[in-house]
Amino acid sequence: MSAINKPALFQKLPSTDELLRQPDMRVLIEREGHAAVTESIRVVLERLRQEIGRGQLNDQSLDLALGGLSEAVERQLRQSLSYSLRPLINATGVILHTNLGRAPLAAAAFDHIRATASAYSNLEFDVSTGERGKRDVHVDRLFQKLFDSDRAGTTAISAAISTIVVNNNAAAVLLALNSLAEGGEVIVSRGELVEIGGSFRIPDVMSKSNATLREVGTTNRTRIADYEGAINECTRLLLRVHRSNFEITGFTEQPGLDELVALAHRRNVPLMEDLGSGALFDLRSVGVNCEPGVLDSLRAGVDIVTYSGDKLLGGPQAGLISGRADLVVRMRSNSLFRALRVDKLTYAALEATLLAYVKRDHDAVPVLRMMRLSKDEIAKRAERIISRVKSAATKPARLKLELIDGESVIGGGAAPSAALQTRLVAATHAHLSADELNTRLRAYFPPVIARVEEGRVLLDLRTVFPEQEANLEAALTALTEN
Ligand SMILES: *Cc1c(COP(=O)(O)O)cnc(C)c1O
Repeated sequence: MSAINKPALFQKLPSTDELLRQPDMRVLIEREGHAAVTESIRVVLERLRQEIGRGQLNDQSLDLALGGLSEAVERQLRQSLSYSLRPLINATGVILHTNLGRAPLAAAAFDHIRATASAYSNLEFDVSTGERGKRDVHVDRLFQKLFDSDRAGTTAISAAISTIVVNNNAAAVLLALNSLAEGGEVIVSRGELVEIGGSFRIPDVMSKSNATLREVGTTNRTRIADYEGAINECTRLLLRVHRSNFEITGFTEQPGLDELVALAHRRNVPLMEDLGSGALFDLRSVGVNCEPGVLDSLRAGVDIVTYSGDKLLGGPQAGLISGRADLVVRMRSNSLFRALRVDKLTYAALEATLLAYVKRDHDAVPVLRMMRLSKDEIAKRAERIISRVKSAATKPARLKLELIDGESVIGGGAAPSAALQTRLVAATHAHLSADELNTRLRAYFPPVIARVEEGRVLLDLRTVFPEQEANLEAALTALTEN
């Protein structure tokens, strides 16, 4: 093979203008616009320049590449004009998977987004008076209904409760601390100085809010007397933080919520609880007993609770602050609230999600529907997929699919130890390792995200939408050809 003459190869490359004048490029320009085609040509030519520079192309391979230039430009164009944010199939069984977008929205939520966001709306306009309104009213009224309907219960919520919405729960905690405790002290147990992931750390949020953290107790044991002993004239707030993503077991002690409420009332200091997930649905009905609900805390007399919209609530990303109206008013009038407020898309999605709760239509909310799926229902769907893949496969013997017992995880910082019983499809392949299988599933369109355990790929249908089953079958069937 002759030595590579790089300068001669660079000379062979056409200029962008030359390419733009070619007939096939003109067709592309007509379809996709001049700017996009020019940009794609630049990218393709730059790639060739780099390959020449690295000595990866010789005379023949460059000619070959130049012969396929129009196709390369078209491919580049397709790639740059397609969406980067795409749907995928979550077969991990983790219902609230932060990396996969947490809660999928209810169909009613995006219908409502479409209807109210593609036209003008009464977001901040009172149609009856013709005057300026508040954007919170749209969801506050539904929270009122949910909390009011609880009044019929034996241990009713006594105080008037208001709710405001900010960008996420991290913002909710920041706003609440800044509004209620700026320049003062907040008492927190050392066992609750948590990091939630994505750099949300209680001590950091505390300093950003200009409140001073007053740690009490020890990592594993904190008593009510520790809180009481730390209260002084600078104390503005008692804070309890839900241990969302870990547990402390063994020699442990933590005061009950009722003890904290009693102390807060006696010393006239508000009690705030960062619930994290904040279920509005009784998880005990799906066998999860350790996750506190929003209603449980308000009923117990906690003054302010903060929670996420896209965790167990099953709505859009949002941070919700519910609690004593006089305290919520202080947060609403804080200029931080204006900076952290959410847009009409979030209000629309949240309003539709909350309406499903008010109507007690829990199956309309995807995360609730997934939590409520029984092991038998999941097993039936898994069996059907296995038999369909078997009958569609060209070389069925290569991919072994079997049903095994397993657990689905709620995730999203909810109930770290709570698991739901499920049936899993366990896949192994005659020629591919579990990691290779997993990689191929991810490369499928739409991508299938599964988990690998003990040399097998495990697929949990709890988090796969029935509409996605045909795609999942096709992805598995394709693996039998390898
Ligand atoms: C998840 C979580 C947060 C952060 O909520 P985002 O909505 O993700 O901002 C804060 N505190 C606790 C206890 C959590 O579980």
